[in-house]
Amino acid sequence: MDLNMSNSDIFNRYKSNSQVARVLSEDWFSSNMYCPCCDQDELSAYPNNKKALDFFCGECGNDFQAKCSRTHSARKINDGEYNTMLNHITNNKLPNFFIMNYSPDEWVVRDLFMIPKFFVSPSIIERRNPLSDTARRAGWTGCNILLDMIPSDGKINVVRNEKIIEPDEVRKIWEKMAFLDNRRPELRGWTADVLKCIEDLGKQQFELREIYGCENQLADLHPDNKHVRDKIRQQLQVLRDNEILKFESPGKYRLLC
Ligand SMILES: [Zn+2]
Repeated sequence: MDLNMSNSDIFNRYKSNSQVARVLSEDWFSSNMYCPCCDQDELSAYPNNKKALDFFCGECGNDFQAKCSRTHSARKINDGEYNTMLNHITNNKLPNFFIMNYSPDEWVVRDLFMIPKFFVSPSIIERRNPLSDTARRAGWTGCNILLDMIPSDGKINVVRNEKIIEPDEVRKIWEKMAFLDNRRPELRGWTADVLKCIEDLGKQQFELREIYGCENQLADLHPDNKHVRDKIRQQLQVLRDNEILKFESPGKYRLLC
């Protein structure tokens, strides 16, 4: 992997800055990015990459969408139409997302991480205000992906501060969390949200009552569910069964990594 994105051919062929940035980003992913989900060492670009930068793995069939910017916020990132997003979650039609920050002066990849598709649930989707009546697409309602609501295993670093993470490390995290892919979309959000609550405690060992402390927060994220404590215990079992945590004694748990 080469973090340098610049390509004199592309600089000569395109005039506008946004076009240059889009084509350089697409070119970089096609030439440098491996599949984080299997051992394939390249990704292919979908033809007609006009609006989004879409890629796929010819080996495992995973889809990817790259969001590249010089100014991504660490908190949230824009995505498309709100209801379309929710539909894609329910129908398992989301790609995995690559979030890339580059330096526009040196054209170098600074940070790149992947959000596996199975970490994108309604809990982390924020509805934006509809466009005003005077806008060309009046009434259109977009959404944001709330990055700071995703547990760390749902933001898999590929490049961090211009340092390349070993592909093996990246693939290990994908593999560890891939059990979520087999869970129904409405359930996997619960698992990710409880994992995030555990992480926010900031310690390896914790007690059930501490996670119950997140009851209101989880109830807000899942307003249709009236049995939040049952759901919490159920998710702890799911996390235990998939070796993310260990039950040490009644009501006491330990994170395994
Ligand atoms: Zn693959």
